[in-house]
Amino acid sequence: MRILVAEDDAMISASICTSLQSDGFVVDLVNNGRAVNDMVSSEHFDLLLLDLGLPERNGLEILREIRDGKRAIPVIIITARDSVDDKVHGLDLGADDYLVKPFSAKELSARIRCTLRRSCGRAEPEIEIQDVKFNPNTRQVMKNGEPVALSAKECAVVEALIQRPGVMLSRAQLEERIYGWGEEVDSNAVLVHIHAIRQKLGHDFIQTLRGVGYCIPKKNRRQ
Ligand code: CA
Repeated sequence: MRILVAEDDAMISASICTSLQSDGFVVDLVNNGRAVNDMVSSEHFDLLLLDLGLPERNGLEILREIRDGKRAIPVIIITARDSVDDKVHGLDLGADDYLVKPFSAKELSARIRCTLRRSCGRAEPEIEIQDVKFNPNTRQVMKNGEPVALSAKECAVVEALIQRPGVMLSRAQLEERIYGWGEEVDSNAVLVHIHAIRQKLGHDFIQTLRGVGYCIPKKNRRQ
C-alpha cells in the first residue's frame, strides 16, 4: 500500500518513513502544503498522513479541498494540536482518524491498517481468497495453511489486488501502487512479479485480461 506523508519536520518525517517502510508500506514524502493536493489528484495513494502545521497551506485547508474535490482518499491527521475541538473539527472536515504527536510507530501502523481496512469495506484483519490467506499486519501469505515466502514487491502486488477482489488493475496502476518516487522500475517488472506469484500461489490465483490488466478473482474457477 502506498502512503503519502505530508510533514515538514524532517526528524519526524524521517522516523515515520523508516517505520512505515519497515512495515512494508511504499512511502512518499512531501514537506510543503501547496503540493499535497496536486499529488493526491495526479497519482494513486492509498492513504494520506497529514500534518496540520505545514508551510504555505495548512492541513485543514488541504483536507477541505480534498473532500470538496470528492476525493475519497483516507486521511489520518497527525498533529501536536490535542484539544477536543481541534480533533472534532478535523474529523468533521473529513479526516478518517486523528493522531496526536508524539505517537508510537506501532500505533501509527495499526491505525493505518485499520483505516485501510475500513476503506476497503472490510472488518476482519485477514483476507482469504481461493486457498490463499493474506495478513496485512504480518504480511504473511499462506496457501492451504502453509506459509509461502514472497519478496516485498510480490507481497505488495498481492496486497494491491487482494484488497479488492475482482477489480482489474492495469500494469501502470500496479506500478503506481508498489513503487514510490525515485525507485527504478524496469518496464517488465510487474510481469516478472506476477509470474513469480503465480509460480508460488498457483496460475489461476491472478487472472489476466489482455490489454486491461490483472485481478484476483473472487472465487476459484472450480468453485
Ligand atoms: Ca508541522
